[in-house]
Amino acid sequence: MSETMKSLKICAFCPNTCRSSFGANEALQIESQTPSALSLICLAVHQGNLEWNQETQDVLMRRDAVKSSVGKCTYSLNMTKILDDAVHSLNIR
Ligand code: SF4
Repeated sequence: MSETMKSLKICAFCPNTCRSSFGANEALQIESQTPSALSLICLAVHQGNLEWNQETQDVLMRRDAVKSSVGKCTYSLNMTKILDDAVHSLNIR
């Protein structure tokens, strides 16, 4: 999971520069659904600071903003794939 972790850390602390790819008033701007927010949630679970339960898993499936970021990420990350990998790793640990 080390490459995935590295990507999650980059995204979690990025100021969401991909947000400029969609309108300021669009629902995709919801803070808790940005790629950064979902990355931070994965890191919090990995570090034992957040429970890995159904609610957490449901939150990580709200991917509209993440899908929109693919191809527009400053770091060329595919956060859809990275979050899928992270969720898979958290499920099997
Ligand atoms: S997807 Fe890329 S640009 Fe968007 S918040 Fe994550 S690291 Fe930053």
